[in-house]
Formats: sequence, structure tokens, C-alpha cells
Amino acid sequence: MNADIAAFKKQLKDKGTKGLVIDLDETLSWTVYYMAGELAKLYGNPQNLSVEELCERMNARDIPFWNVEEVRKWGIQALESEEMTEEYPIMEGSDKAVEKINHVIPVVGYLTLRQTSVRDATKRWLAKHGFPDEPVITRPNNLKLEDGMKWKADTLAYLYPQVIGSIDDTLDIFNYLPSSYKGTIFLYGQTDYPKSDLNIIPCKTWDDVYKKVIEHQLARGA
Ligand SMILES: [Mg+2]
Repeated sequence: MNADIAAFKKQLKDKGTKGLVIDLDETLSWTVYYMAGELAKLYGNPQNLSVEELCERMNARDIPFWNVEEVRKWGIQALESEEMTEEYPIMEGSDKAVEKINHVIPVVGYLTLRQTSVRDATKRWLAKHGFPDEPVITRPNNLKLEDGMKWKADTLAYLYPQVIGSIDDTLDIFNYLPSSYKGTIFLYGQTDYPKSDLNIIPCKTWDDVYKKVIEHQLARGA
């Protein structure tokens, strides 16, 4: 495991702290919304779709009015841009919910597929929106995005039990987490997910995440 991540685990262990990590994109940061708006400005919006509709079409990969190769190239640049990273809007209610959650289970860090080159910009963004000032674990710059989800799952599993789980919007992580993983995934924004032995708690909204975190703590007798 990467030295930064090993040091992060050791620090939590030495302090005796256990807590949650939180994902960034589409969990705290409405990244796709920003990108859809920028792409519409650059490449047009011939069907006059709202930005929300553009987001849905992007998620469904149903964007025939844009050149896929141009969008892909622009996306890679965007993901490396510190300026853009600082501009993303936040997911509605995430700031207030995280503040409350932090009183129930400590938020000990952030775990993201974003690469390390935008870590400082991400930290500035988190501070701007009042999120807890905790370490941001980012994908090593030399690790390809397509290998990122395996890295993220391995990292989460490695950090257990100091990191008891995460709040994340992606289903893909379940393809990589070992079935022996004992942590809890608060699955934000999703109600549908594949059957699994993993401890998955679906939460449609940030209010739901807060409620489910409380229920989880009560069930553990905390
Ligand atoms: Mg995400």
C-alpha cells in the first residue's frame, strides 16, 4: 500500500479513531452537472435540454449530438484541471448532512478516484464548502482511471477497521470489494443495487444518509 495511505491508517490507529470516508464526485460534488453545462457551451445543446436532462443523458451515455471522442478528450483535461475542480457545485444538502453525521460517526477522510494532481484544489473546494478538514486520499497520478475502482476498493478494505465504511454513490465498487469486507457502504443516491453479502445501506438523499447513520449506530449499541 502507498506510503500516504499506510501513514493515514497508522495515524487513525494511534489515535484510536474509527470513522467514515466519503467519496467526492456525485456524492459531495455535482461534477457531472458542471461538466454538462460546460460541454453544452462548447459543443452546443441542439435539443435545448436542461442541464439536469443533459446529466441524465451523459450518465446513460446517450449524447448523439456530441462527438464522443471530443467529449472524452475534454473530460480527461477537465479531470486534471484545478480551476474546474474548484468550480463544481455541491450535491444538495451534503454540507449540512456531513456536519451532522460527523457528530455521530467521525468523518476521518475522503476517498476519491480523482488523481493526486488535483488534491490541493479538492482540499480548497472542501474548505470553501465547510466540509471537515480531513485527509483526501486520491488516486496515484500514475494509476490509470480504468484501474481506479479496484484501487479504491483495495484501499477501503485495507483501511478497515480504522475506516468502518464509506459514503459513496458508485455501484462499481461492489465488483472489487472482497466478499469478506466487514465495513458498511452507505450507498448514496441509489435504491437499486445488486444482491451481495456486503453490508450495503441504500440512501436516496443526504437526509436519508444521516438517518441511516444514526440507525446504524443505534443497532451497534453505540
Ligand atoms: Mg462518486
